[in-house]
Amino acid sequence: MGTRECGHTSAMSSPTKGEAGPTGQWRTSRPIVDQEKCRAAKAGKLVCMQCWTYCPEAVIDKKIPIEIDLEYCKGCGICEEVCPADAITMVPETDCVKDEG
Ligand code: SF4
Ligand code: SF4
Repeated sequence: MGTRECGHTSAMSSPTKGEAGPTGQWRTSRPIVDQEKCRAAKAGKLVCMQCWTYCPEAVIDKKIPIEIDLEYCKGCGICEEVCPADAITMVPETDCVKDEG
């Protein structure tokens, strides 16, 4: 569909939650949020939200504190890269399985 038919004035995409489908067993690492460092959590307001803005899977909930839906997060690490407060750390799934077990 061209841009005229869809009503957008420019080419753009609107990501929806879980474009890559459930991550199942293939994600190799997951983002862990340190709420002590998160600017939004510290301010108690919806400030910053860089992680929410740039997550390509739209799996970060814009709320205080932010929540990441690990059923659909693909572990790309973009949220970790863009977080200005170093509040997000990508942790290997193998370490998480150990912790959960
Ligand atoms: S980008 Fe980092 S500091 Fe900003 S809301 Fe997300 S986790 Fe918090
Ligand atoms: S690693 Fe971060 S940016 Fe990537 S899909 Fe998961 S929550 Fe989104």
